[in-house]
Amino acid sequence: MNIQEHVRAVQQRVAAAAEAAGRDPGEITLCAATKVQTDESIRAAIAAGITVCGENRVQELTAHLAADAYAGAQVHFIGHLQTNKVNKVVGKVSLIHSVDSPRLLQAIDAQAAKLGIVQDILLEVNIGGEESKGGVAPGETGDLAALAAQMEHVRLCGLMAIPPISQVPGANRQFFQKMAQLFVDIKKEMAHNLSNFNCLSMGMSGDFEDAIAEGATLVRVGTALFGPRPPMHPDNTK
Ligand SMILES: *Cc1c(COP(=O)(O)O)cnc(C)c1O
Repeated sequence: MNIQEHVRAVQQRVAAAAEAAGRDPGEITLCAATKVQTDESIRAAIAAGITVCGENRVQELTAHLAADAYAGAQVHFIGHLQTNKVNKVVGKVSLIHSVDSPRLLQAIDAQAAKLGIVQDILLEVNIGGEESKGGVAPGETGDLAALAAQMEHVRLCGLMAIPPISQVPGANRQFFQKMAQLFVDIKKEMAHNLSNFNCLSMGMSGDFEDAIAEGATLVRVGTALFGPRPPMHPDNTK
């Protein structure tokens, strides 16, 4: 597995997808989804040009931070976040993608206040309406955005989504379209309050080109950079 070659190949695919959609490739951030990766793999990805790492699990985040594995890159938290673990994430990552309830929002705001910082966040939207998945319902996203906009110690920077798993090429385009519409609607509704509302985080190894075609500004890519994850790992199903 040559991480450097894979990074270059994915970067080129991101740029090609942007150009095909008439977009500036510079608008799109490639975030390496680093779950189950070693410190060495993460360092290799950063050495190859990755500027943002996305971590799923608090435990892995804490271990990689302690090893200084993300040196030279930003780190984002992209996994489900439990309220009782916010103190291990707030202030340690530059963006939390997975805020999906008033309770979690309030816990993040309180922890950020304690640290005297402003934490950048995205709202995760359950765009496929899947029971088993986290994320706020599309119809409730505006209300959660309004709540976030009132908070002093969080800054709402956009939306994130993980559409349903599908093997069918193009199947998720409809969800990416819905996300892009929701993103525009919220931005319009709350323009005066949301000057930093610029990030639309969607698209993974199997569908990031479609996500870019529909307006993603950040894609989260694991397998295409690092190779397949061990099948028994619980996060492999996400
Ligand atoms: C694992 C993961 C990804 C990357 O998935 P791949 O299909 O391996 O590219 C993206 N986003 C989240 C939230 C993930 O958990």
